[in-house]
Amino acid sequence: MKLSRLGEFGLIDRIRRMVSVGRGVRLGIGDDAAWVDHPQGSSLITADLLIEGIHFDLRWTSLADLGYKSLAVNLSDIAAMGGVPAYAMLSLGIPAHFDSKQLDELYRGINGLAKKHGVTVVGGDTNLADSLLISVCVVGHPPSKPIRRSGAHVGDDIYVTGTLGDAALGLALLRRKRLRQSPAMAQLRKRHHRPTPRLAAAALLAERNLPTAMIDISDGLIQDLGHICQASHVGATIQQDKLPLSNAYRALAGKIGMRCAMSGGEDYELLFCVAPHRRKRIEKLNRLAGVAISRIGVCMPFGNGVHVVDASGATIAVKAAGHDHFKRP
Ligand code: ADP
Ligand code: MG
Repeated sequence: MKLSRLGEFGLIDRIRRMVSVGRGVRLGIGDDAAWVDHPQGSSLITADLLIEGIHFDLRWTSLADLGYKSLAVNLSDIAAMGGVPAYAMLSLGIPAHFDSKQLDELYRGINGLAKKHGVTVVGGDTNLADSLLISVCVVGHPPSKPIRRSGAHVGDDIYVTGTLGDAALGLALLRRKRLRQSPAMAQLRKRHHRPTPRLAAAALLAERNLPTAMIDISDGLIQDLGHICQASHVGATIQQDKLPLSNAYRALAGKIGMRCAMSGGEDYELLFCVAPHRRKRIEKLNRLAGVAISRIGVCMPFGNGVHVVDASGATIAVKAAGHDHFKRP
């Protein structure tokens, strides 16, 4: 079958069926990170690949920002499990025209974020390539009970950290080369280039064992919520008017409206579900987490699918489902 029909997630599912699960694998393919046993305990492992021309464009991305982001997206997957990142392996495919100063720049971005979170680069691989390629693998320490995508129940509240759609709107505007100089644009651009892995909020949530399921939003709210729903065998109803938006988003979205907030990728906010009787505990966390936590919807029976409703409860059709590397409409 053509990959354009199978789609990224159909392909991953195929791969999952082709590999056998060995001993010591507590959680293999299908979550934000794998969780594996070793003689002294257990670890979380995650990997992400960034390719020039697909994930980034060096016309508007500095190498320092790119270094930062290539590590940040991996730390975000560790956060999504409630874990603490520790080590990184960093592999590079480098075009022949690059010089050493450019690599210094890339590592400046990586090191800044690594230091902030106590992550050490312990290895990787280096090769010549036609375009720049960055592959990062991060190993982290799990909390006592890693938070999977699969534990949500019907009736659980659905929450997100931070604000939605900023990174995707920033990218859309960068592509149009519009409004580059305004402070609002600078804020959106920063959200696109330097996403914040929500490690502190994730650790607080995991310590208190609050989320029944969690994922980081890399491919868009609706799509990533779909992953939780599929893994947990629940549906979901999201209230569009509850989606948290930044002032910069409100100022610049224009005709894009809510599209980036619902379906735009790369916000790297946490999306999680919590039993409704624990609402007060989440409200308390709101002050501790260093980032706003917003309740945006509720888990429904599986047959409901993922629904978005307006303030009156009427269903809103969501056109773009989110990011898939292979699928073509
Ligand atoms: P995320 O957006 O959180 O990085 P992905 O959608 O990239 O997650 O991946 C979903 C799951 O599929 C993860 O468990 C990941 O490890 C696994 N996965 C992705 N690509 C491959 C592959 N080529 N081989 C094996 N597992 C893969
Ligand atoms: Mg993820």
